[in-house]
Amino acid sequence: MNEDKFNQAMAKQQEAVQSTMASANTEKSLVLLLTGDGKGKTTSGFGMVLRALGYGQQVAVVQFIKGTQASGEELLLKQHYPTIPFCQMGTGFTWDTQNFKADQLAAIRTWEFAKQQLQRTDLDVLLLDELTYMLAYKFLDETEVLEAIANRSSQLSVIVTGRGGGTALRTLADTVSEVRNIKHAYESGIKARSGIDF
Ligand code: ATP
Ligand code: MG
Repeated sequence: MNEDKFNQAMAKQQEAVQSTMASANTEKSLVLLLTGDGKGKTTSGFGMVLRALGYGQQVAVVQFIKGTQASGEELLLKQHYPTIPFCQMGTGFTWDTQNFKADQLAAIRTWEFAKQQLQRTDLDVLLLDELTYMLAYKFLDETEVLEAIANRSSQLSVIVTGRGGGTALRTLADTVSEVRNIKHAYESGIKARSGIDF
């Protein structure tokens, strides 16, 4: 591409961006869904948490995940921002559903915490990491969850991550992004790596 063509392309792009920005004039909090089978959903959610923190905004994190080991994100936030509400479903949850009742109880307990956060009038960003699986397994009632998100405190933006998510959640969300798997190192036998995968 020569200089003239580059400048023309840039001018065209600037015009398109300016016209989109001019027509986007509604100020409101958002619901975002980060879904799909590729890597990058949770890390994108935490990216927005960091972004909000950078502006001094109030954030909270709820992770509907198993395991007792804290993620790098949890370690960082707990070390540097100990007052940020950070709830992980953690123990009691297993992916093999032999312990369905215990798993469901853990999900419900975690959801109770999330519901409190959804009502906070001082919160700017709430990350509900891996929430979609709780709906897929029917551990949580979809209608109740979607109503609580829809009726959240008006200033609060909510980020939901996880594969699937269902039509109703996609409809409710203002922004839906699908991360598609092209390939993943795991498929070549490469081990999950600290700082990259967890
Ligand atoms: P990340 O937390 O890295 O943003 P994610 O939230 O998009 O990933 P999850 O489905 O929550 O993906 O899975 C988390 C873990 O599984 C991460 O260690 C990630 O590298 C791995 N993973 C994600 N997608 C794939 C895939 N398509 N194949 C194999 N492993 C995957
Ligand atoms: Mg994830």
